[in-house]
Amino acid sequence: MTRISPRHPRYQSLRTRARLAEAARRGLVAPEGLIAHGRGEAFDYFLGERSIPSARRAERLAARWLANAERPVLSVNGNVAALAAEGVVRLAEATPRLALEVNLFHRTPGRARAVARRLEAAGAKGVLGVRPTYRIAGLPSDRADVDRLGIARADVCLVPLEDGDRAAALRRRGIRVISIDLNPLSRTSETADLPIVDELTRALEALRTAMPGALARRRAGHFPPSDASGLLASARRAMVVGLTRPRGPGTPAGSRRPALRRPAR
Ligand code: ATP
Repeated sequence: MTRISPRHPRYQSLRTRARLAEAARRGLVAPEGLIAHGRGEAFDYFLGERSIPSARRAERLAARWLANAERPVLSVNGNVAALAAEGVVRLAEATPRLALEVNLFHRTPGRARAVARRLEAAGAKGVLGVRPTYRIAGLPSDRADVDRLGIARADVCLVPLEDGDRAAALRRRGIRVISIDLNPLSRTSETADLPIVDELTRALEALRTAMPGALARRRAGHFPPSDASGLLASARRAMVVGLTRPRGPGTPAGSRRPALRRPAR
C-alpha cells in the first residue's frame, strides 16, 4: 500500500482512498465504486468532515425505526464492506433482528463472495444475498437480485451508498428506506423515507450509539414520522455555509479545525 505521511493535512482521507484502491485491486470494490467514493468525499469536504446536527437527528430517528422494525435489513455493497465492515457488524450486534445482505450494483459471484467474506472476517454471521433467491420487479439487471429471507421481505431497509432506482423500487414494495449518502441532491437521498446525510463510518457509529436508547423505548411496528425534505434542506444549507465560511488551506469547508500555518517567507 502507498506510504502516506501522517503529517499530510489530508492523511485520513488519503489513507481511506489507499484502502479502497487496494480493495478494488482485490476485487472487493468495483472501479465505479472508487468514483462514487470521490463524489462522497467532495460533499464531506463541504460539511467540514463532521456530522451536522440534522444528521444526528436523522440517526437517532433511524435507530428507532431499526429498533421498532420486525424484519430490518442492512444492505451491504463493496464500498461499504471495504470502508466499514467492522462498523456494520458492531451495528448488527447492537440491533436485534438486523440482517446483513450483500446487494451489489455491479454483481459478480466473486465480488458477492468477497463482500460476505469481508463481513465474516469482521465477525458477521449468516450473511444473506450471496446467492440471490428473489428478483425485485421493475428493476433491470443485477440490481434486482435480492434474498428471499432478507430484502424481499424487509419492513425497513438501511441502504448506505445506494442508487436511486433501487431505493425507489424498495419503496414501491412498501419497505421503509433509510439512506446514508453524503450527497443531499442524489436521487437516493431524494427518494428515501429517512435520508441520513453523513459519512458512512460516522453514521454507523451514531446509529450504534443510539441503539440502546431506541431499544429501551421499543414499540414494534411504530415508525415516528421523518421530515425528509427538511433534513435534506438542512444538509444543503450546511454545505452552503461551509463553502462560504473563511478558511485556510488544507481545512475542509465548515471545519473548525485550525487552518494550516503558511510557511514563513
Ligand atoms: P443516485 O442514483 O442516488 O443519484 P449517484 O449516482 O449519486 O446515485 P452513486 O454513484 O451510486 O450515486 O454513489 C453513491 C453515493 O454515495 C454518492 O452520492 C456519494 O455521494 C455517496 N458516498 C460515497 N462515499 C460515501 C461515504 N463514505 N459515506 C456516505 N456517502 C458516500
